[in-house]
Amino acid sequence: MKTVAIFGATGSIGTSALDVIARHPDRFRSSVLSANRNVEALADLCARHQPDMAIIADPTLEGALASALKARGLRTQAAAGERALEQAAAGPHCEIVLAAIVGAAGLRSTLAAARAGKRLLLANKEAAVMAGPLLRAALAEGGGELIPVDSEHNALFQCLPDSHEDLRGRGGVRKLWLTASGGPFRGCTREQLANVTPDQACAHPNWRMGRKISVDSATLMNKGLEVIEAQVLFGVDADAIEVVVHPQSMMHSLVEYIDGSFLAQLGQPDMRTAIAHALAWPERIEAGVARLDPRMLALDFESPDEETFRCLALAHQAMHAGGDAPALLNAANEIAVAAFLDGALPFLGIAQVIEAVLNELPPQSVVNLETLLARDLTARSAAQRIIRKQVVGC
Ligand code: NAD
Ligand code: MG
Repeated sequence: MKTVAIFGATGSIGTSALDVIARHPDRFRSSVLSANRNVEALADLCARHQPDMAIIADPTLEGALASALKARGLRTQAAAGERALEQAAAGPHCEIVLAAIVGAAGLRSTLAAARAGKRLLLANKEAAVMAGPLLRAALAEGGGELIPVDSEHNALFQCLPDSHEDLRGRGGVRKLWLTASGGPFRGCTREQLANVTPDQACAHPNWRMGRKISVDSATLMNKGLEVIEAQVLFGVDADAIEVVVHPQSMMHSLVEYIDGSFLAQLGQPDMRTAIAHALAWPERIEAGVARLDPRMLALDFESPDEETFRCLALAHQAMHAGGDAPALLNAANEIAVAAFLDGALPFLGIAQVIEAVLNELPPQSVVNLETLLARDLTARSAAQRIIRKQVVGC
């Protein structure tokens, strides 16, 4: 029986993971569950899954969580705050940690799980983007394993040779091809994008996801973050990663080898496949996913439009710039996406804000977590200032 901590249990990935785990009560137990501020939703999940510990990220809500657990007659221990997440990630209550908090908020607990040598199931791509060198160092220190949950990286993991952490010039790999659905606005012009709403941006054609990643998919920043994530996870050169738009989202990525072979992983656009794979690897378990009939497959591929969807080009720029540029990109993106979701920034303004932040802050090398987080804050303040100026300027 393996114990699993699910950080971000109330989210889209968290919900899918709880579903997979509940199908295998003989193999896995959800032992730690966390949420940001939704005490009632977290307590309801605790009633269903009976974890040892529940953590609410907002420290002011610890009392409310304790009361909600008590009201349901549960013995689940209540904890709160980022420090509690870090301690739980490294502590004795879990052997596996699913990092499924959205954004930079998941960084510390992800690093703590890596440093403690846990099996780290990484959905929180922002942590890898922000702090690639620190994550790799933490994994080396802990000696545990990271299994990617992001569907493209999970697909690559499945198609790569066993030793995949440093592929530069090794393993006969020529290129990693990341597939992108193109999002809800594929084929749109900049004029058509000028007035799109948050709800339109979040209406993804193939996947049901949280609102932040849905907007990232609509801007193609999601693919930009994933290119950087692939470089961090697999240690390949930036030029060895290619993005291809595949609107059906049935092929989840491809590895091209120097002998001309391509290995790809196919499946329904359902995150439970990647989650089940990461939980049970190297074994395979049932995931509750609808079967795919290969006779029904239509597979189209095209190049991404980086001129309309500037965020992908900006992510490439940040990756090539190196140092902490990916962290600055991520911070500016988080602020710009939040402003767009609040109705305070137009869709096309997201890329403008990120570009302005990258122009304002030349990259520095990543020294340690504290300096990185200080730079993250600087980039957030710069993005907020630029948004205020843009909105006032409109
Ligand atoms: P979501 O918005 O549905 O859920 C986010 C979870 O994080 C929730 O449980 C929320 O309570 C928690 N959270 C939010 N802010 C927090 C904070 N400040 N501190 C602590 N907890 C906080 O998001 P999601 O779609 O499940 O995505 C989660 C992560 O997985 C993201 O990094 C995303 O990029 C990645 N991912 C998601 C999918 C998908 O299909 N949803 C696919 C690949 C990767
Ligand atoms: Mg993905």
